Order: sequence, then C-alpha cells, then structure tokens
Amino acid sequence: MDIAANYASLRERIAAASVRAGRDPAAVTLMAVSKHQPPEAVEAALAAGLTCFGENRVQEAKAKIPLCPGRARWQLIGHLQSNKCRDAVALFEVIQSVDSLALAQELNKHCEKAARTLPVLLEVNVAGEASKFGYTPTALLADLATLNQLPRLEIHGLMTIAPYTPTPERVRPVFRRLRELKTECEQLLGVPLPQLSMGMSGDFEVAIEEGATCVRIGTALFGPRPRPAE
Ligand SMILES: *Cc1c(COP(=O)(O)O)cnc(C)c1O
Repeated sequence: MDIAANYASLRERIAAASVRAGRDPAAVTLMAVSKHQPPEAVEAALAAGLTCFGENRVQEAKAKIPLCPGRARWQLIGHLQSNKCRDAVALFEVIQSVDSLALAQELNKHCEKAARTLPVLLEVNVAGEASKFGYTPTALLADLATLNQLPRLEIHGLMTIAPYTPTPERVRPVFRRLRELKTECEQLLGVPLPQLSMGMSGDFEVAIEEGATCVRIGTALFGPRPRPAE
C-alpha cells in the first residue's frame, strides 16, 4: 500500500471538492484513521506528511500510541465508556465522540484531576440509525447549555457518521443537517463553533461540499484494515 501516493491523490480530491464549494482547501483537515493499523502504518503516514490520527478504541490506542513517533497527534473518534475516561483524557488531544451529558461530566472530572482542558466535538446520530451512537438533534439542543457549563471541556463543534451507502450523494442531507445543527448550536451558545467532522473514505467529497472541516479517512489512505486484534 503506497500511503504517500494515496495521500497525494486524497489531497487532490479534497482540493477539488473545496474549490467546487468555493472553500479554501486549507480549511479541511485530513485525519488519518489508523484503527486496526500497526504503528508502521502510522510511521509511513507521518513520513508522508500526515500529523492528525484518529483511533476508535481506547484499549487499542493505549497499546499503539507509545509505539508511534511522538509527533503524531491523536484524537478519539469512537464511542467512549465512562470507565475508560481517565485513559482517554491521558491519551487524546481531542475527543470527537462525546454523546451524552453523563460522559461529558465524567470527562470533565478526569480533566479536573489532570489539570487540563479538553476540546471536544459532540457526536450526532443525524439519521437516527439504531446501530450508531450519538445524540439525537433534539437531545443535543436540550443538553447544550449544561454541556457548555462544564469548565474543563471546550465545545469545538459537531461530528457525525453518515449511513453507509455506495452512492455518497444520498447522504448529502445528513451532512447538510449537521451543518444546520451547528448553526443552531452557535445561536444558542452565542459563539462560533469552528469544527464540523464529517466524511469518510466513501463520502468525504460530499461532506466537504457541505462544509466539513475534518474528514476522517481510513481505507482510502491505508488500504483495507487488518482484522482487529481481540
Ligand atoms: C473507521 C472510521 C472512519 C474511517 O472509515 P473509512 O471508511 O475507512 O475511511 C471514520 N470515522 C469513524 C468514526 C470511524 O470509526
């Protein structure tokens, strides 16, 4: 798998989608989703120029991150259980998968102990899929003011995982809804939220056209994922 070549081609596609939407390509971060990938793949991605990495499980990240070069920056993009909050606060710069008030409160508590602030994204299950985690839009708006009062968390924006489809155009309404929801949150909070994390290997171009600031790419960068170690 030629990670450098994949990255070059992804950069071109990100630039083209940005231009179509009248956006600056530099406003879109490509997160390398390294879940199930070995440290060697992370090293190759770093050598190609990527710096932002996403992991979906605390356990796996805890084993992998110490084996990777120190200049990699790590974000959590998978569902977090409250008993893993302490490790998550120690491992990740940003947590993109905050999906309940109870979880946010637990993270806030561990940030207090670690004397740090934590940038977070709030995950929204826009399409209401039973198989996915994330706030419903209604529950998010109901919790937002309370979430915003947690002193150690900084709400930087919203994240979503669109339903899988071979026809990315079909999930455009999901991305559009997340962007509108961000505007509603900004109005409620009275501050701008800079981040919209949406779009993966199969649908990132549509997500960028709808305003994504972070696209989370695994297979289009690293190739098919090895089977997870259990
Ligand atoms: C695995 C994963 C991705 C990347 O998926 P690809 O289709 O391999 O690009 C993005 N976001 C989340 C939350 C993931 O779990």
